[in-house]
Amino acid sequence: MRQAVILAGGKGTRLQNRLGDLPKPLIDVCGKPLLERQILLLKSYGFDQVLILVSYRADYIKDYCRSRSNWDIDVQCLDDGEPRGTAGAILSVFNQLAVEFLVMYGDTMLQVDLARFVRFHTQGMDAAATLLLHPNDHPQDSDLVEVDESGKIIAFHPYPHPDGYYLPNLVNAALYCMRRDALEPWRSRTGMLDFGKNIFPEMLELGLLLRGYNSPEYIKDVGTPERIDKVCVDLVSGRVDMARLDHEQMAVFLDRDGTINKEVRHLNSPEQFEILPGVGDAIRRLNHANYRVCIVTNQPVIARGECSVETLRQIHNKMETLLGHEGAYVDRIIYCPHHPDRGFEGEISDLKCECCCRKPGTGMIDSVVAEFNIARSSSWLVGDSSSDILAAKRAGLHSILVETGYAGLDEKYLVTPDYNFADLPRAVNFIIEGHPRLMESLEPLAANLKAGEMVFIGGQSRSGKSMIASALRDLLRSQGINSVVLSTDRWLRGESKRSDGVLGRHDDDHLRDAIAKIDTRNGTLSLNINAYRKLKREQIVDAEHLRIESDDVVIVEGVIALYVSGAASRPHRFYVSIDEEERRQRVLREYLLRGWSETEATAIYENRLIDEVPWVNASASSAVNLSVVDHKVIIERNHDYK
Ligand SMILES: [Zn+2]
Repeated sequence: MRQAVILAGGKGTRLQNRLGDLPKPLIDVCGKPLLERQILLLKSYGFDQVLILVSYRADYIKDYCRSRSNWDIDVQCLDDGEPRGTAGAILSVFNQLAVEFLVMYGDTMLQVDLARFVRFHTQGMDAAATLLLHPNDHPQDSDLVEVDESGKIIAFHPYPHPDGYYLPNLVNAALYCMRRDALEPWRSRTGMLDFGKNIFPEMLELGLLLRGYNSPEYIKDVGTPERIDKVCVDLVSGRVDMARLDHEQMAVFLDRDGTINKEVRHLNSPEQFEILPGVGDAIRRLNHANYRVCIVTNQPVIARGECSVETLRQIHNKMETLLGHEGAYVDRIIYCPHHPDRGFEGEISDLKCECCCRKPGTGMIDSVVAEFNIARSSSWLVGDSSSDILAAKRAGLHSILVETGYAGLDEKYLVTPDYNFADLPRAVNFIIEGHPRLMESLEPLAANLKAGEMVFIGGQSRSGKSMIASALRDLLRSQGINSVVLSTDRWLRGESKRSDGVLGRHDDDHLRDAIAKIDTRNGTLSLNINAYRKLKREQIVDAEHLRIESDDVVIVEGVIALYVSGAASRPHRFYVSIDEEERRQRVLREYLLRGWSETEATAIYENRLIDEVPWVNASASSAVNLSVVDHKVIIERNHDYK
């Protein structure tokens, strides 16, 4: 595709103060007329002919283009006469149109990977037109577009929308790839003709194929002074450029059931879909912080025949509508319709298979990573089950387990999340603010570490050791040092093999052996390590195989970490302290979540005050003290850590 048509006939009444005499396409956006920005964008993607359709103050635009002879691209200004709407304008120059062309509106600021958009249009199906669509933060008062699973547009829903009707959050962004011959039926039509209001809905009625290209890239109309100012802010902050898909994107993948909405087993109707508190606000914050928000959800209800694809779409429409009311949107919703086990009445046998998309498989994540050019190392997955966490781990994403839904207690897979938070809003707060702050505050600590060394982080149960360990690992990785976290909980004995006291609960001899092996490794070390199931209180010996390279930093964290640190020759030792009342609440919460009663939870807390707390305190001697205030680590000043 080499030709683009810019609809530049707008007056810009609402921009009068900024425009003075000028027509709207020449509005100044951050020091450059919008029209020039558009033409340079087209040129950078290899377009070599631009038709500018002018009418209002046409001479200004013609003069301007003439003055820019150094654009080095064929620009023709065509006066389309009386205003006839967006499609009417294009039809008036029908004979000058190429077989396929791009349509751009003269009042949109855009930074779109046009090569990719055109490729989508030309590959595969022979569409009459492909429309760039995107979600927005006010779908309730927008004209909406509905597409099916294959990207085919199936309906247009103009504003106003009927009450209580759930619609997908997809808006026509006013950028199209078009086939000239598809416009034939309207050639002899007179009067006003608009693409959105007339041509596209009529094309659907005629059975022409329209495709939706759902993109998170930057494209906004600049019809008011406020919008222009906003675009300027986004240009200066880099937001406009960063959203272009040939730049790497940051993403937050979200599980659906139990993370976004209340977990009801096998949800199969929109009525059952209830969004959890604070979720809309959290997702809006991610939208504003430049994260692509992608939902990846296992929906075996489809394979089981318990929910149709159509009903699932309705459920997602409800989700998008509810989020839209809070100014939030998601960039992608991907689901796995498969299920591996056969034998359900009414099941769909084609979908009964082992697939690679069902989490903990990474198929859904991988497809979005490829589509959106996502940088895995700065992206996250938030979910409530062990399959979410394992999928994140396999996909190379940071993982957060939330305590809503299953709260990880499914224990289907033996896997430890990088971080734990009570719910999605807290997880999002951590992603946006907490994690960067935590890493920054650990910089002085990391500066004292060398490749291959061992770090021991001890402290009372629930004091925040594992969070510090994960953040330290993330910080080291960002500095190019690989690092492995080992929790001493993996060496907890099963319930039946325990005796009194901290050491009665831990298999400390085996842990010490493992540490000695790590400490004296020469080259790559292969190590089988245990796992511990919290809910069943059982130890699984040699559950996981670990490879530790000679220059990996190994971080051992847990209540007995400092106690066993002597097994290493040059351990870095840290003790995490915490306000006791806060710790008490965390311990109670932990046991309540596991299904214990309040009395049982209190009893275990009080028991540990006698049989664990003094012992752990004693291990703190000669360790550097760390405390965490508002996701910031405060390092006790001593001669090593200034
Ligand atoms: Zn699947």
